[in-house]
Amino acid sequence: MYMNGVSLSSLIVAEPGQSYQSEKLVNRWIEVLVDCPGGSGLYTYRLPDHLEVKPGDILSVPFGTQLLGGIAIRFVTQPPVDLPIEKVRNVEDVVSVGFFASNYWELLNRVASYYYTPLIQVIRIALPPGLLGRSQRRIRLPKNDNNETNLSSGSSSLPFLSSAAQQILKLLQAQADGDYSFAYLQRQVKAAYQGVRELQRRGLVESYLEPPQLTRPKQQKAVIMIGATFERDLTIRQREVLEVLRRRGGELWQSELLQICSASTSILKTLEQKGYIIIQEREVLRTAAVFPPLGDGTQADTPAMDMTKILTSAQSEALGVITHLEGCAIVLLHGVTGSGKTEVYLQAISPLLGKGKSALVLVPEIGLTPQLTDRFRARFGNKVSVYHSALSDGERYDTWRQMLTGEPQVVIGTRSAVFAPLPNLGLIILDEEHDSSFKQDSPIPTYHARTVAGWRAELENCPLVLGSATPSLETWVSVGEQINSKSRSVASVATQSQSSKLEITSTPPTHYLSLPERVYSRPLPPVEVVDMRLELQQGNRSIFSRSLQSALEQLLERRQQGILFIHRRGHSTFVSCRSCGYVLECPNCDVSLSYHHTEENAPQTLRCHYCNFGRSHPQSCPECGSPYLKFFGSGTQRVAQELAKQFPQLRFIRFDSDTTRTKGAHRTLLTQFVNGEADLLVGTQMLTKGLDLPQVTLVGVVAADGLLHLSDYRSSERALQTLTQVAGRAGRGEEPGRVIVQTYTPEHSVIEAVQNHDYQSFIHAELEQRQALNYPPYGRLILLRLSSPDPIQVENTAGLIAAALPTHEGLDILGPAPASILRVANRYRWQILLKFAPSALPQLPDWEEVRQLCPGSVSLTIDVDPLNMI
Ligand code: ADP
Ligand code: ZN
Ligand code: ZN
Repeated sequence: MYMNGVSLSSLIVAEPGQSYQSEKLVNRWIEVLVDCPGGSGLYTYRLPDHLEVKPGDILSVPFGTQLLGGIAIRFVTQPPVDLPIEKVRNVEDVVSVGFFASNYWELLNRVASYYYTPLIQVIRIALPPGLLGRSQRRIRLPKNDNNETNLSSGSSSLPFLSSAAQQILKLLQAQADGDYSFAYLQRQVKAAYQGVRELQRRGLVESYLEPPQLTRPKQQKAVIMIGATFERDLTIRQREVLEVLRRRGGELWQSELLQICSASTSILKTLEQKGYIIIQEREVLRTAAVFPPLGDGTQADTPAMDMTKILTSAQSEALGVITHLEGCAIVLLHGVTGSGKTEVYLQAISPLLGKGKSALVLVPEIGLTPQLTDRFRARFGNKVSVYHSALSDGERYDTWRQMLTGEPQVVIGTRSAVFAPLPNLGLIILDEEHDSSFKQDSPIPTYHARTVAGWRAELENCPLVLGSATPSLETWVSVGEQINSKSRSVASVATQSQSSKLEITSTPPTHYLSLPERVYSRPLPPVEVVDMRLELQQGNRSIFSRSLQSALEQLLERRQQGILFIHRRGHSTFVSCRSCGYVLECPNCDVSLSYHHTEENAPQTLRCHYCNFGRSHPQSCPECGSPYLKFFGSGTQRVAQELAKQFPQLRFIRFDSDTTRTKGAHRTLLTQFVNGEADLLVGTQMLTKGLDLPQVTLVGVVAADGLLHLSDYRSSERALQTLTQVAGRAGRGEEPGRVIVQTYTPEHSVIEAVQNHDYQSFIHAELEQRQALNYPPYGRLILLRLSSPDPIQVENTAGLIAAALPTHEGLDILGPAPASILRVANRYRWQILLKFAPSALPQLPDWEEVRQLCPGSVSLTIDVDPLNMI
């Protein structure tokens, strides 16, 4: 069993002062979180004497006419006042023990209350799917012999039964185990409900409730050797098999053993009969498969060894601080691109594992995980597992259970992995902490993994390291005192952290650590800004400036590799009629359709980026019939076409959401690139996230402008982060790199900051503006998103809610206003923005009352600390 050797009871939160012993004597009331269709919540049950239950166990409980799965939350001294004691029902059974690590409930509760989300919704995000499956009512023939004789002999005496009852009986009798789900019978037989009642009354069938279904562990046959000496009674073949088994340590999966020996199962059966081996069903963990490392598609399935590197002085200073931290602390590791942050993470984790502790590593997107995962696997082998939403249910479930074994391990995952139930957590790392994919916009809880990671660090009393070349303003400000007032001497930081150990406070100690240089003192690449207005004036109508064109030619000559970044969002590629100006739009959303061309010979399609509506490319304008349709904008496809036209000998790989849709596509494409099968990687946002490709010398940004002019208060911050990250992909190896940024507004402060590699000055200017307007990180925001298929109703409701919101000093209500794209997937969207000083938090409205104002057709999402305002 996977839980062997782990004291699960030690992982479970017990209510303070509550001993198990006194439990039995004093009360047997327990609150259970039940996942039921109309309104999940906590319900009180009685615990029958024969059951032993601890908080965190999964139970089956009666609910209405069903048996449902539920989680034991806590013991209570009595049922709620409005529930008479005789009405309290009994817990039916314990389905599975101990599914939660210590402090876990506190974390989930905190998420639920901060993000105004029912606990059950938080649990749905945190738990692997299928854990709280729903049970079914089933009907079967009674299990005693009397009935059997009764029925077989009595078929002729049944005509007095209604036809429904007769049909049901026939169905059951025809079935080997005489057992069907009620739902099935209802589909097969008219008036099945009455029929079953009738049969039940006569004792001809019984109805029972299937226990809640869990995702089942996967079983597989294993062969285990018993006894080490071989006797004379063995054939040569049998000896061979035993020899293989012995050399492999005496245990192997049956399938594996048979394959190695090219043997059949009969030989194993004989060996089992002779008492040399036993064959047993064992559990297999479906954790994600180990992939070959990048650039090495042909090798065996273990990543190449990766040696611990000798740290630069800045790296070892940072490592020194991190490894000396005790208890909870928040660390900002601000290292320029290519400064070796990952090496610091690796060396910080290594000693922890030896001490029996685990580490959690959170990364923005799956696109960059293959590379990062490889580096971790190369260092820590099979102690590394990945946990993210692209795993299958089975993989998620098994990875989860593996975490609960308490073995020291490293879990790498995206946003939702912040809930990974690792006991003995010694360190949390959140890499590329500025990245907005750590925030969930919908559905609720609209959590930010960085915020949750902070709470987790507090509850587990371990450090949280936030790494970035372009820290978010939130993080910058929260560790700000360090930056401004403390010297960054290691000694002073280390002693300070020691004095603050083991205290769970709402403001843990913070540390600012900086890696200001790239490894081997490699320079950051020079950034050349090209004014595209001048290009046009001087007669260059191509989307590539002359500078970029000559850089691409050089790339070919020198046989080097490059990256071309295209910012593509929503409107950037559209099709319009040259005769009448008609723009092809999505019928469900207020946006234009984007032009797509996914496979070489597939028909051209137009697609909506919001609702995924697609249509074929029309031959003529739907409005005026003119055949002159033109593409505007410069999405990846457009750029790819231009490249093919202008640089036919240039081999490029498109790396965007169209080409990386299938499982493993990121890895395949990157491997091709690393193997030199292309000169250029052409793609979108995905390219900006931590790729470490040392052979890349050129980075081109086709049009920076799409990034600069987005209509929300964070657009400058985000633009600078993206551009700095893209630029940071160049010159990470021995060859120096260069960056070319094309723009129509070279005077923009973001462009200047990219050019000068000056993140700090930009931050200071930006923070002043934020402070003046009371925007985050100074003020806080809550965005109410309303949507409905009915445009009038949603507008009215938005007005009603805005009017009902309290007015207070320090609480600004902006709106209601239509969302910047009013209609998406045929739902009309309105929003209200609340902006407030953190001190005004107590004056926020009761959200349950606010919800009451929404009619059925209008849905309301409360987005706490929203990042995406569109
Ligand atoms: P970052 O995450 O800060 O952008 P990486 O961790 O990807 O940077 O490191 C950049 C490159 O430098 C990687 O290829 C890494 O293996 C290498 N590297 C990191 N630290 C060292 C070191 N101390 N000595 C030599 N190479 C290093
Ligand atoms: Zn037209
Ligand atoms: Zn659409």
